Amino acid sequence: AAGRTVHPDDTVIEVNDISIGTGTFTVIAGPCSVETREQITMVARSIKTSGAVILRGGAFKPRTSPYAFQGLGKEGIDFLESAKAAVNIPIISEVMNQTQLPLFENVDIIQIGARNMQNFDLLKEVGKLKKPILLKRGLCNTIEEFLMSAEYIMASGNENVILCERGIRTFETATRNTLDLGAVALLKEKTHLPVLVDPSHAVGIRSLVPPLAKAALAVGADGIMVEVHNDPAKALCDGAQSLDLDQFADLMDEIKKRVVLE
Ligand code: PEP
Ligand code: MN
Repeated sequence: AAGRTVHPDDTVIEVNDISIGTGTFTVIAGPCSVETREQITMVARSIKTSGAVILRGGAFKPRTSPYAFQGLGKEGIDFLESAKAAVNIPIISEVMNQTQLPLFENVDIIQIGARNMQNFDLLKEVGKLKKPILLKRGLCNTIEEFLMSAEYIMASGNENVILCERGIRTFETATRNTLDLGAVALLKEKTHLPVLVDPSHAVGIRSLVPPLAKAALAVGADGIMVEVHNDPAKALCDGAQSLDLDQFADLMDEIKKRVVLE
């Protein structure tokens, strides 16, 4: 179970030689969407050099508009796997439904997106796996509902759950969402599971990503997942909130001054 009362010690999630939830700060970075083999490989190399330890890249994209870029699908997973092999870095990608799961065999962490946080059938299916699941908080879900969704995965047999606060819907429209830092602090009290923050989807504005990333660190998050693109102006998805490679390197320099990286 996810609660501290039954399991007081922090859960540590092992991904290859990386440990998430040990009191260090895990940085996951990469583009919103995998676009080409060259793009994802180049981003992987750069973010690893800067200090990120896991590469993100969407292949199945939950877009608001059906006319927006929907991701490369299986080909996107293939390109992500080729970047993993070329650069030697673990990878994370979002699964949108259970029929896609066989394609994720070589994906190290499976992401359940905000829009699927209460897709209970999907939660039960990933609960049958052994590999780590990164569960994002739904756009309008309470902390209690978030924990119950983690519980679905764990009750099905998979205890390797990482929580991710990615901003919630509020009355405020100046930023894409409202980063709920209080939720991060409360989750760290209530559950032994690692808690990450996604400052990119939380705020939606590139210049505000570094300050929120540092706020995540200050509030006690176990790490961050940040969108980074080689050419944000040309990104097929979420360019406005994506850091370029140099901006990410600068953010990592600031984080390194403050913590031990893992
Ligand atoms: C993502 O991380 O690619 C994503 C779609 O985020 P969210 O599910 O939080 O909107
Ligand atoms: Mn995105």
